[in-house]
Amino acid sequence: MGCFQFLKLYLFNPASAFYTCPLAMTDGAAKLSQIYNKPLAAYFKKFTSRDSKKFISSAQWMTEKKGGSDVRASTETIAKKENATWRLYGEKWFTSAITASVAFTLARIEGKDGLSLFFLETKNKNGKWNNLEICRLKNKLGTNALPTAEIKLKGSIAHVIGEYGNGIKKITPLLNITRLHNSITACSLGKHLHSLSKSFAQQRLSFGKKLIDHPLHKQSLDEAALNNENNFYLTMYAVYLLGLEENKRSTKEQSQILRLLTPVCKLYTAKKNMLVASELLESFGGFGYIEDTGIPRIFRDSQVLSIWEGTANILSLDTLKALNKDQSFQAFVKEVHNILNFVKNKNKEKEKILKKLDQLTTIVNKLSSQSLEESQLISKKIAFFIAEIIIESFRLRF
Ligand SMILES: Cc1cc2nc3c(=O)[nH]c(=O)nc-3n(C[C@H](O)[C@H](O)[C@H](O)COP(=O)(O)OP(=O)(O)OC[C@H]3O[C@@H](n4cnc5c(N)ncnc54)[C@H](O)[C@@H]3O)c2cc1C
Repeated sequence: MGCFQFLKLYLFNPASAFYTCPLAMTDGAAKLSQIYNKPLAAYFKKFTSRDSKKFISSAQWMTEKKGGSDVRASTETIAKKENATWRLYGEKWFTSAITASVAFTLARIEGKDGLSLFFLETKNKNGKWNNLEICRLKNKLGTNALPTAEIKLKGSIAHVIGEYGNGIKKITPLLNITRLHNSITACSLGKHLHSLSKSFAQQRLSFGKKLIDHPLHKQSLDEAALNNENNFYLTMYAVYLLGLEENKRSTKEQSQILRLLTPVCKLYTAKKNMLVASELLESFGGFGYIEDTGIPRIFRDSQVLSIWEGTANILSLDTLKALNKDQSFQAFVKEVHNILNFVKNKNKEKEKILKKLDQLTTIVNKLSSQSLEESQLISKKIAFFIAEIIIESFRLRF
């Protein structure tokens, strides 16, 4: 998955009726099927096939009633081995794209500690559900084109992936992919709304002239456009790093930066996109609030981007984890200097970014002497700082 594929998703997203959600999960599933090649090799071809008769989509069922953030503590689904076959018993509270052919899920193996990763076909060979019951489809704020269900696993036949345990660690590569898909969706929805709003402003008259000719209105649109562009810079840089890694061309430092930027990018783009969506809804005046225009739907769809695949708080905590690991911050600092070294002149602007980088370094260096609570309280600010510094560096470079 590289920049070209993400650019296609960027264009496809607004017209996709959120089909990009199952596509994201299937892309993540393709990644897992590469990692766990032994049981899943045959599925990789299905997940990546361009032939609609061979292609299948995949889902991820992690969230249970007791919680989606703390899946380790909240997962109550049990896996039992019955006549050499694994069967799952439990409830999954949010299963988007219940139309998927297969799913990755987490369960506790009876008598063992921790969670294990399981893979299952949603239907059996006769086309009947694999001992699972669809209790109901969720009545959601947005993403209504996407069927999200509550389900019961009633002895669903499944396959354990790898050794027992470490389920969350094993499913993480999938989440790292879907998180970047989330970011490109934020870029795409924001850009779509902006195009509609600009077109509206070029036609709507107020106080004797077109809206676009009122400096204050234009300023609001320009600010939204800037936020969209910033989201795009950040996302495409992370996607570029992902492409390098998937093609085995990434350096150790680039992989470290990708690890750090994945949660940062997901949380930053989702949050900024909500500001953009709110401002642009307002830019249509009363029309923006009326369902027939389609604008409220885009607004509501945007809100999910900061919830699923990890809320902003959870991703801020994940950013802390990345900072504590593998010298990722040092790699990030070096990369900012590399980018700025390409910039000729513009010394004042460069100095401003480097000053910000120094401030961030001071905050990050203090983390080791702070309590866990203190670090957590500053984690979102750090994530935003990281995003802004890399965006501003790229804006200067290009
Ligand atoms: C439309 C939709 C589709 C979804 N599809 C799927 C799906 O297909 N598969 C799937 O597995 N899940 C799915 N989800 C579930 C989603 O991933 C979870 O809702 C999300 O991870 C949050 O979990 P939760 O709802 O249990 O909230 P909780 O985990 O209860 O969190 C509630 C709030 O507490 C905050 N919080 C929790 N812990 C901490 C902490 N340590 N520090 C600070 N703040 C904290 C969170 O940020 C959040 O704001 C879907 C959700 C939606 C809305």
